[in-house]
Amino acid sequence: MPESTAQAAPSTRPIRRLDPLLVNQIAAGEVVERPASVAKELVENALDAHATRITVELERGGIELIRVCDDGVGIEPDQLSLAVAAHATSKLDAPEDLSRIATLGFRGEALASIASVSRFSIRSRTRHDESASLIEIVGGDESPVRPASGPVGTVATVRNLFFNTPARRKFLRTPQTEQARCADAVRALAAANPRIAFTLTCDARVALDLPPDQSPKERALAILGPELESQLLEVHADEFDDARGLSLWGLVGLPAIARATNKAQHVFLNGRPIRDKAIQHAIKEAYRGLMEHSRHPTAMLMLEMDPSAVDVNVHPSKAEVRFRDSSLVHSVVLRAIRDALRSADLTPAFDAVRSTSPAHPQAVLPSSPNLSPARFRDYFTRDVPAMTSGSLSYEALRDALEKPKTEPPTEVGGQPDTADRPSHPNQLPTPTPATRVLQIHNAYLVTQDEQGVVIIDQHALHERAMFEFLLARLGRGDLESQRLLTPAVLDASPAQIERLPSLAPLFKRLGVEAEPIGPASIAVHCFPTFLFDKGVEPGPFIHELLEKAESDDFNPTDEQTLHEILDMMSCKAAIKAGDKMSDDELDALVAIREQIERSSSCPHGRPTSV
Ligand code: ADP
Ligand code: MG
Repeated sequence: MPESTAQAAPSTRPIRRLDPLLVNQIAAGEVVERPASVAKELVENALDAHATRITVELERGGIELIRVCDDGVGIEPDQLSLAVAAHATSKLDAPEDLSRIATLGFRGEALASIASVSRFSIRSRTRHDESASLIEIVGGDESPVRPASGPVGTVATVRNLFFNTPARRKFLRTPQTEQARCADAVRALAAANPRIAFTLTCDARVALDLPPDQSPKERALAILGPELESQLLEVHADEFDDARGLSLWGLVGLPAIARATNKAQHVFLNGRPIRDKAIQHAIKEAYRGLMEHSRHPTAMLMLEMDPSAVDVNVHPSKAEVRFRDSSLVHSVVLRAIRDALRSADLTPAFDAVRSTSPAHPQAVLPSSPNLSPARFRDYFTRDVPAMTSGSLSYEALRDALEKPKTEPPTEVGGQPDTADRPSHPNQLPTPTPATRVLQIHNAYLVTQDEQGVVIIDQHALHERAMFEFLLARLGRGDLESQRLLTPAVLDASPAQIERLPSLAPLFKRLGVEAEPIGPASIAVHCFPTFLFDKGVEPGPFIHELLEKAESDDFNPTDEQTLHEILDMMSCKAAIKAGDKMSDDELDALVAIREQIERSSSCPHGRPTSV
C-alpha cells in the first residue's frame, strides 16, 4: 500500500538541550525505581563514608519517608550543593579509576536523581565543623545551605517519593511490599558489612537491630536466621584460589532447606550485593543430584577479588557486574560448595528434624498400628523432613535394633507386612546381629549406623546407586548394549521422527540404536543391556525419552540432559516400593549406602535415608 496521504507529514522540531531537572528525572528512572533503590543508594553512601553505625527509618514502606543516618565522615558545608548535583562525586578522580572501583558508588548521580523525584534534605557535619549544615531540595528546587544542629555524620531524608512523577508513583506496590523490598536491600548490605551496626525501623517498629563488630558468620546467621545454623555448611575457596586472586567464604544450606525460588541466595562481591548468572548456575550445579531440579539452594557467598578484575559499571543499579574471568569464578564457587557438601553428612538427622518441624509429631513409627506406607511416604516426600520422638519410636527402634536376638531369624528382613504386628514398639522384630536390616512394608529398610537408627527408602537409595553406577560406566565408555533379535517398534509423531537424527550422538553414548520406519514409527535395534536385564521395555522407554526431548531445555549434547536421562534410567531399573527383597539383597543395598557418594538422596533429590 502506498504511503497514506491522510497522515500529515511530521514537521521538524528544533533539538533542545534537556532541562537539568528532566535529565535527573530520566536518570532517576533507571536508578530510583522504588523506595528500596533509594534505601540502597543512601546506605551505600553511608558505607562509602566509613560509617560504623547506620540507621534506616521507613514510613509506609518508604513511600512516605526514608531516612538514613550515619556517623561517617560527613560532607563539608560548601560541598553540600555539589553532593546533590548530577555527575558530581568524590569517588572518582581520573578515568583509570573507573577500572578499579573499590567504593559502592561512583557515578555521582544517586542524590541528584533522588532529589529530583522527592522532597529531599541532607544534613551533614564533618568532624572539623562546629555544627551541621542542611540543604533541602523539593522536586529539584534547591534551597540555600543553612546551619543546623546535629552530630558528626550525615542524615539523608526522602519524603513523598515520586510526588512529582505520578506515572512512577502508580507503579508502586502496597506499603507492605515496598517495605519488604527495602528491608531486603538493607539486610543484604548489612550481611556484606558485619562490622557495622545496622538498625531498621518500619513505622517506628524495630525490624532489624544488628550490633557492630560481628564476625561474617555471626552476621550471616543473624540475617539468614540463627535457627538454621545446624542446616548450614561453611564454604570457602582453597589457598590455590586465594593465590589466583579470588577469595570466597560463605554459608550454604543443606538440601532440606532449599526453596522454591532463588530469593534465599545472596551473593556479594567486594561487599556489593550482586546477581550473577554464572554464580547462580555454579550454585545449582553443585547441588545437582542432591535436590530436585526445580528447587533453589539457600546460600550466602562473599567473594573478594581485585577490583580491576571486574567491571562494576555495567548495570543501572549496579546489581550486575562483569567478571574478567567468569569461568574462574564459576569453577571456584562450584568446587567450594561441592567440597562442603561432600564432606557433610547429608542424611537428615533426628535432632535437626525435631527442632524444625514440631508440626508433625507422629510422622514416623507411631506405636499404634497405623504404621502405614503412606505415612512413610509422606515423610520422605515432605520438604523439610519432619520426625519427632513424641513418646516413642526412636528409643524403641534403637532398642529393637540393638537388643541381642531374642526372636527367630525368620523375623528378619523380607517381612511381607508389619501392619498386623503387635502394636507395642518393644515388640518390633529384632534383626540378627549379622544382618540387622529390617524391611517394612516392602518399601523401607531400617538399620543402624554409628550415629543411630537409619531408615532407608529402598527405591530412592537403589535409584541413587544405579545412577552412580551408570554415570561411572558412561564415564568409562563401557555401558554395554544389546542388539535385539527383533526390533522394538513404537509409534512416533512426525516431529519426533524429525528430531531423531539430532539425538544420534546421545543415543550412541547410551547404547541405543533407533531409526524411523515409515512415516509414523521408529524401530529400536539396540538397547542398554543394563536396562534390558532389569526388565525395562525398549519401546515405552524410548517413547518416554522422545517425549522428554520435546521440552525446551532438552539439549542432547548437554550434561544436564544426560543426567536427566540417567535419572530416568535408574528410576526405571531400581527396586520399587512394594518389591520384596531377600536378605542378601537387603544387605547388599545397605552396604551400597556406605560406598556411594551422595547416597543421602536419590537423583531427584529426595532423601534416601534419615
Ligand atoms: P556517588 O555515591 O556515586 O558518588 P551520590 O550522588 O550517591 O554519588 O553522592 C554524591 C557525593 O555525595 C558522594 O560522592 C559523597 O562525596 C557525598 N555523599 C553522599 N552521601 C554521603 C554520606 N552519607 N556521607 C558522606 N558523604 C556523602
Ligand atoms: Mg552514592
